[in-house]
Amino acid sequence: MNQTRIHQNVSLKKYHTFAMEVKADYFVEAQTIEDIINGYQTFPDLPKMFLGGGSNVIFVNDFHGLIIHNKLMGRKILKETSEYVIAKIGAGENWHRLVLWAVSQNLGGIENLALIPGSVGASPVQNIGAYGVEVKDVIQEVEVFNLHTQKLETLTNQDCQFGYRDSIFKRDLKGKVLITNVTFKFNKAKHHTFNTDYKGLSEALESVRQIDVEVVSKAVIKIRQSKLPDPQSHPNSGSFFKNPVVDEDLMKNILANHPNIPSFDLGNNKFKIPAAWLIDQAGLKGVKNETETLGTNPTQPLVLIHYGGATGDELREFIDFIRTTVDNKFGVTLETEVNLV
Ligand SMILES: Cc1cc2nc3c(=O)[nH]c(=O)nc-3n(C[C@H](O)[C@H](O)[C@H](O)COP(=O)(O)OP(=O)(O)OC[C@H]3O[C@@H](n4cnc5c(N)ncnc54)[C@H](O)[C@@H]3O)c2cc1C
Repeated sequence: MNQTRIHQNVSLKKYHTFAMEVKADYFVEAQTIEDIINGYQTFPDLPKMFLGGGSNVIFVNDFHGLIIHNKLMGRKILKETSEYVIAKIGAGENWHRLVLWAVSQNLGGIENLALIPGSVGASPVQNIGAYGVEVKDVIQEVEVFNLHTQKLETLTNQDCQFGYRDSIFKRDLKGKVLITNVTFKFNKAKHHTFNTDYKGLSEALESVRQIDVEVVSKAVIKIRQSKLPDPQSHPNSGSFFKNPVVDEDLMKNILANHPNIPSFDLGNNKFKIPAAWLIDQAGLKGVKNETETLGTNPTQPLVLIHYGGATGDELREFIDFIRTTVDNKFGVTLETEVNLV
């Protein structure tokens, strides 16, 4: 058995992109399955949490348990044909580096998902998506370590029950399995259908004569860099709230008072509304809390910025303030996309 180093009283500030000043009682870098088993055996009764890049998690309090930082690496081609490549990727690998690798190999499928922070292992958890593409479109299988049976198991794409920013890993399997590898099917560029209809991306590519994976990924990177604050300089967790889905009656009510509201018809009398628009129209773009430790981003109000020194209570109050203001104006309840721990 390898020697697993378990650290005590570890600051989590640099392990999550919102950078709250909180600590974990115990912390382990899991480079092997053995590290995970050792962590579990050392602290059978303590709460445990898996952590990737910490870009979709905010620690609002000290964590009185064991943080298992996923560092399970590896990249393996399982199959290659003239049309596609099947690749199995370690859950601890960096997501954006995987995108760059796929682009360098001229493989299509995840070019629209460039520059999303975080790990490969977390990508199925909330079915990451951007610019009209979701990771579920390229996932074949997800390998997990079942913490109860202590065995590796494989889930098919269907088993993962993917939805909008949702999967079985956020529900029935939350805390019960650790994702160890994800298997993707990438198309060779000649056989790939690009998804460039999304507003912003189609405009950026208007003058481009020949679309390829590199051109699309570079356009996505450029748009994202111009719109989203870099967590390194402005700690944030990306989109803080999900885009709410409302039924036809509520949509009609809102339209009566706000005829310019953008919405997307999902069918079945359901409509998706951009949360950023609601927050903006509620007058909350660029606002700060009383202590000026937190604020909505002045250009993209769906992103909350931590200016430093915020407490968990201040964050909760600020979230409540945003939700109540939006609810009072539109009758729409915002749900957080980020996991508060
Ligand atoms: C600037 C910025 C931009 C972003 N843009 C987007 C975007 O365009 N689209 C989008 O979908 N998301 C976006 N996000 C959110 C985030 O990047 C994704 O959700 C990402 O997949 C999180 O990866 P992570 O490794 O950081 O996960 P973490 O934050 O570490 O973990 C997220 C959740 O997954 C669980 N988890 C992590 N790893 C595993 C594992 N191996 N097994 C089981 N459970 C696990 C954790 O316990 C936690 O509940 C953005 C975030 C930021 C900061």
